[in-house]
Amino acid sequence: MEQNKRPRILLETIDNLARKPGLRSKIDAKCCECIYDPYQEGTWRIQVDNCTSMTCPLFSKRAKTFKKKGVNS
Ligand code: SF4
Repeated sequence: MEQNKRPRILLETIDNLARKPGLRSKIDAKCCECIYDPYQEGTWRIQVDNCTSMTCPLFSKRAKTFKKKGVNS
C-alpha cells in the first residue's frame, strides 16, 4: 500500500480548513490542496492569493490576503 507522501502540516491544514462549515472553507481547502507548499515562503493564504491559474473555475473565488482585500490599505 502506497503511503501519502505529502507533508503532515499540509494534510492538517487542508483538514482544518475542510472541517469548517460553509462553502468558503471547502474552496479554501481545495485551493490549499492544489497549491500550498509548506516548504515555500508564505502562508497557505498568501500562496493561494498568488495563484496565476486564471482559467481555473475557482480563481475568482480563491482566498485573498487581507492586504489585497483592502483592509490594510
Ligand atoms: S484558484 Fe488556483 S489555487 Fe485555487 S484551485 Fe484553482 S488553480 Fe488551484
